[in-house]
Amino acid sequence: MSIRHHPTEVVLAGYASGALADGPSLTVACHLDRCPACRGRVRLFEQVGGALLADTDQAAMGEDALARALASIERPAPAPAQRASSPAPQPISGVVLPSALARRGVGARRWVGPGIWVAPVRSNAADGWRTYLLRVPKGVAMPHHGHNGPEFTAVLQGAFHDEGSVYGPGDFSESGEGLEHHPAVEGDEACVCLLSGLGGVKATGLLRLVQPFIGV
Ligand SMILES: [Zn+2]
Repeated sequence: MSIRHHPTEVVLAGYASGALADGPSLTVACHLDRCPACRGRVRLFEQVGGALLADTDQAAMGEDALARALASIERPAPAPAQRASSPAPQPISGVVLPSALARRGVGARRWVGPGIWVAPVRSNAADGWRTYLLRVPKGVAMPHHGHNGPEFTAVLQGAFHDEGSVYGPGDFSESGEGLEHHPAVEGDEACVCLLSGLGGVKATGLLRLVQPFIGV
């Protein structure tokens, strides 16, 4: 299945400039892992950002500008492993994690129903975003629920349908505050997604009963 749902230009530009929060950035990285078109767009944004920065530097160049520029080049950027005190990633049988996600710690799975689990993903920032893997087996629809804030989703495996669209491996979805929906797994395979949400889920019906246990 080819990729049909991509992050918006605003989200990709935010990713390229580092303005996007950590959890959403990770969902974009999972999409980029499979999407050469968006990788190209991100490269373009990075080049444009670099060019704008170069213009600014030139305009404001003082006596010590060259020395400061050289100092920043000589100072090596910290490796991702040094910034995140993450444990060794736990392999989850049957799920191939994109490298950006595999480098993070994925916590223990919590089973919340037959074939349904959530596993928290370690964040590099305590900024309120909840980032986690969700697995839902074939033939299962999520309970109807609403969103208290934005949520980003990257499909890692399988597919789901939502609001008239089908999302397969590599597809990206962004929902806003106020959306109420009940996505359902599509096809013959379990669906595994990486989700990052702010503000949590507004549970209705059945989900309200299990929400305290799954922490979404
Ligand atoms: Zn894309």
